[in-house]
Amino acid sequence: MRTHAMGEMTVKEVREYLKHNQTVIFPYGVVEQHGYHLPLSMDIHNAEILACRMAEELDCIVAPCLNYCFSGGQLPGTINVKPNNFSNMVCDIMESLVNQGFLNIFIVPGHGGSESLLHLKESLRILKWMNPAMQKAMILFIRRSDYSKKALDSIYGRDYHAGESETSTMLACRPGLVRMEELEMDTPEIAEMMREDPDAYQLRTNFTGLHQEIVNTVQRPEIKVGVMGYPERAKAETGVKNLDDAIRGMIPVLKKAIVQAEKARKTGKMVEIADTEKLKMLKL
Ligand SMILES: [Zn+2]
Repeated sequence: MRTHAMGEMTVKEVREYLKHNQTVIFPYGVVEQHGYHLPLSMDIHNAEILACRMAEELDCIVAPCLNYCFSGGQLPGTINVKPNNFSNMVCDIMESLVNQGFLNIFIVPGHGGSESLLHLKESLRILKWMNPAMQKAMILFIRRSDYSKKALDSIYGRDYHAGESETSTMLACRPGLVRMEELEMDTPEIAEMMREDPDAYQLRTNFTGLHQEIVNTVQRPEIKVGVMGYPERAKAETGVKNLDDAIRGMIPVLKKAIVQAEKARKTGKMVEIADTEKLKMLKL
């Protein structure tokens, strides 16, 4: 294959590709505050770096990265696309890909926040429900923490957004975009609060205290830098090791998933997934 980048291929090349391979990777990121030492495009690189390595290992192609989703951050440069708009966009992209013959789609989120991912997962479930043509496609989310002990350790080690792990990835793969000399943290109290709980950057209030009332959400106004973790520990070497660990963990699983999906499409035998959460309506 001349390139793994779908955006650099021609119609003819994609047509040829589809004759022997129906797998495509779809990365998405966000334009978002990442402190003073990392660029706003951090999560776009995050997604693209992993997607490119996966494509080499799986010998498949990567669709152009979607650069926007919902961040929640409100510092300068951050661009928020509401989760429903983001999900609609991704659902359209998935339909386009499946209509053309792609059957195995790996979605690679470069952004760690939960709002976009939660919304997208449910939107895709409904899309597959309402459009039977989509049911032949296996759509799988790929997050490093599902396959890599190192990624999980950094989460349990309270390193999240713009911290050691993300900074190390950039030092390893896009060193020209890192400004370690500009590194700053928020006040020690704020920095510690966000290591304790990365969602603590949100201040939620309502009028009544009742959980049935919709809350008002803002980013805590004391946050000026927006780093969650330990960026001062970052090293290029760590970035390389983290990426290798994630790739090592995920590639055999993904290869097996492709084989399983192909087999299930032929035999019609699907795996039944039981919904074990009873009486969801009472929790809403
Ligand atoms: Zn990030």
